[in-house]
Amino acid sequence: MSAQTPAQPQWLNIDEIDFKGKKVFIRADFNVPIKKGVIKDDTRIRETLPTIRKVTQGGGMAILASHLGRPEGVTPELTLRPIAEHLSKLLGQEVHFSTDCIGQPAADGIAQLKEGDVLLLENLRFYKQEEKGDMEFTRKLAQGIDMYINDAFGTAHRAHASTALIAQFFPEASIPGYIMRNELESLNKVLFDAKKPYTAILGGAKVSTKITIIENLLNKVDNLIIGGGMTYTFIKAMGGNIGKSLVEDDHLDTARQIMATAKRLGAQIHLPIDSVNADKFDNEANISTSDIDQVPDGMMGLDVGPKTIELFSRIIGESATLLWNGPVGVFEMSNFAKGTQEVGKAIVEATAKGAFSLVGGGDSVAAVNQFGIADKVSYVSTGGGAMLEFLEGKELPGIKALMR
Ligand code: AMP
Repeated sequence: MSAQTPAQPQWLNIDEIDFKGKKVFIRADFNVPIKKGVIKDDTRIRETLPTIRKVTQGGGMAILASHLGRPEGVTPELTLRPIAEHLSKLLGQEVHFSTDCIGQPAADGIAQLKEGDVLLLENLRFYKQEEKGDMEFTRKLAQGIDMYINDAFGTAHRAHASTALIAQFFPEASIPGYIMRNELESLNKVLFDAKKPYTAILGGAKVSTKITIIENLLNKVDNLIIGGGMTYTFIKAMGGNIGKSLVEDDHLDTARQIMATAKRLGAQIHLPIDSVNADKFDNEANISTSDIDQVPDGMMGLDVGPKTIELFSRIIGESATLLWNGPVGVFEMSNFAKGTQEVGKAIVEATAKGAFSLVGGGDSVAAVNQFGIADKVSYVSTGGGAMLEFLEGKELPGIKALMR
């Protein structure tokens, strides 16, 4: 059975674990933007607080570990020390800091912990063995530890020492943290347990980066809405005029194959029917609207038009499950943001009526934040590459390691 087959959750439930007196290694994702020691966005840190508190309030000791950036060996600018200071404020208790994630400093720090204490280890990637998944390094990380929690979904697609391998040392005590659990439950819902009608909305720039996701979703969804730059590869493949819109000429066949597969599987593909066009890739460009297959020469399609918005909104409104990855236009420019904004609005309305909606992927997360609707959809996945690989149907080493 695939590690992601959810028939029954096969992972330990953090709510049912007794952490009293236990030393718990928590792999967190504290890879946050820091400039000159100042944390620019602490969202990821704050999101980890419930997992940390669960351990400490249960009488356990939290040993936190994370990577930060891409250091080549020990890199003072990439120290996690500012995060220890920030965490102290957020948690309202001292967060101890170990200047090394293994060796004597870590051993001393761990040995001195009392129930309810928190220790943050230095940047895991100061050791290249972390990313290499070196077993000896992993063994050192596991020293003096009783349990392992992984709350770093964003690195679950990596078979690194702290994200996957370390679980081998805790076969009875490797537990998903709350972030990890929420991601797993939400992604499982759209991949394996979706209520029908199920509509996926895929946008973004290129077909080539979405092929595997499309293939994995086609036998699950009732509707696949396609928008964004990849639209024009499909339209060209069907013989339409796309002017100078973004196109991947080496994927015209891919587009045809996707449409043939969808037909065979009974999934409806919905392409835009009209296009908002510009004479240059610029918010101040000259703008006109055309049928999707009639983009004039010299113009490029940068957003979906009003008829498309109506069509997409209707399909979204009739859906019980919604998955949205990728903007349907160049939403970063105000004159080409309307399509993406309206798709977001339709998803919010469907959610309010009871649909389950999952939004994921860097640009879609940016879009829901930009339009202020992040808290009006069912779940926003911040898993990035890990989420995309999950949607592609791949087995993620970090998740497999938590399965029982
Ligand atoms: P992706 O990372 O593949 O999801 O692509 C996201 C990017 O696609 C965003 O930066 C959008 O501006 C861009 N995009 C969306 N629609 C278009 C379009 N019609 N032409 C060019 N780029 C687009």
